[in-house]
Amino acid sequence: MNIRINQLGYTPSMRKTAVLQGRPADTLQVVDGSGEIVMTVPISPDSAQIWGDDVYSADFSALTQPGFYVLRCGDIASWPFSIEERPYASCLTALVDMLYYQRCGEDLRPELGGFAHPACHTGPARVYGTQELVEVTGGWHDAGDFGRYIVPAAKTIADLMLAWQWNKDAFVPGLTRLPEEMRYELEWMLKMQRADGGVYHKVTCALFCDMVMPHEETAELILCPVSTTATGDFAACMAMASRFYAGIDAAFAARMKEAAVRAWNFLDRTGPMLFKNPEGIRTGEYDDVTDEDERLFAHIELALATGEEKYADAALRALETIDRSAAPLGWADVRGYAAIEGLALTGKAGSLCREWLLGVADSLLARINAYGITMTESLPWGSNMDVSNDGMILAQAYALTGDMRYRIAAEQQLHYILGVNAVGYCFVTGFGSKRVLHPHHRASVVNGTPQPGMLSGGPASGLMDPAAQEHLQGAPAGKSFIDDHGSYSTNEICIYWNSPLIALIAALS
Ligand SMILES: [Zn+2]
Repeated sequence: MNIRINQLGYTPSMRKTAVLQGRPADTLQVVDGSGEIVMTVPISPDSAQIWGDDVYSADFSALTQPGFYVLRCGDIASWPFSIEERPYASCLTALVDMLYYQRCGEDLRPELGGFAHPACHTGPARVYGTQELVEVTGGWHDAGDFGRYIVPAAKTIADLMLAWQWNKDAFVPGLTRLPEEMRYELEWMLKMQRADGGVYHKVTCALFCDMVMPHEETAELILCPVSTTATGDFAACMAMASRFYAGIDAAFAARMKEAAVRAWNFLDRTGPMLFKNPEGIRTGEYDDVTDEDERLFAHIELALATGEEKYADAALRALETIDRSAAPLGWADVRGYAAIEGLALTGKAGSLCREWLLGVADSLLARINAYGITMTESLPWGSNMDVSNDGMILAQAYALTGDMRYRIAAEQQLHYILGVNAVGYCFVTGFGSKRVLHPHHRASVVNGTPQPGMLSGGPASGLMDPAAQEHLQGAPAGKSFIDDHGSYSTNEICIYWNSPLIALIAALS
């Protein structure tokens, strides 16, 4: 028997639902900081059978008085939690600051709570298959490894710009460093573009390194070939960022718009060039089966950034033919960004996107399970990204319609990440009562303690690493998680898992 709650707490106005694994009594008590029972609420009589448990729920939304509480049922208590106006503010700041510690190519300071180290990967990179050397320093390390890849960088940047866009009017303190932090990545992305407009897929060493600090990885850096997925994502992000920075630094914005146009022109005259790791390269492939979605995303962003008809025409043509039954916000499938950003287009294109986004949001609502998320049968590698992504779509649907069902479901995605899940972890390092202590993150392993502000990948039902295979045989999908630094398929960290959570918290703040 366990009582699962959001370990970081709730705002007074939120819907608050405890999820119980078992039902030793009919009611749940809310106990305040002085030990007094302030409320008794019924536990649902019916259970859902999921991931090996009979799961019940209890709604304590009537609790709105700020303070510290625990929930009790018989002898069992939940972790303590708070009711307050900004329960996620420090978590949001740490999630943004994590990106600082992913920075490559400069001396990192400890002030933001992470691990300092000297500048890494400062030499030039060699273009694969040639002797040509290119200066591509900067940007963020992708994940627990130190590679820098354009497609996941694009997902991260798109999420962060949405986070900012969703908060233009409601100032959220944790986001104030975003323009400076995103610029560090955007400046690197600009270096990854060739003069002809094509964009290199990634820069890494040939192989993943051992568990060492970033500056201790000193093998040769290799620039892998141009792909049209990287080029399409690049065009979209640069166009999007050119609007974002127009009021901050007009010259920087103009450079990005020019780069976006050059990338789009490359795409326009080039058929699909889908990336596969060339011989001898074994780092993250970030491969894809189509570049149709990246092209659509690029058309839409160029249309919004330039106002030119040729991009809007291309966007409408692509919108009419693309599969609009789903709206993923992935590194491989970026249709969701097209759906969200396309809402700003005029005429038929805009209404197609509205219909698309709300259709997908309704299908998410229909799939929500006892833990509040949409995945039940199998959970993919990095499932916490999918949970956060679903939250973004639902939050956008709420913003469009004002329909509280979307809002409550978006909040449920956040509650799941912060404690209302089958294993009871708060999945952001450094936060919550039951914490992730052993992420697959080299600097945390070297220093023997986890760096704060990193979202763990979360349960992955495929058991895709030796630690998962050793410890999780037979575990149900939602419990296929182990807090072990060897379990890269359930407990790695990366920039594009933090970013949708940043966007989700920003949307709900
Ligand atoms: Zn580096």
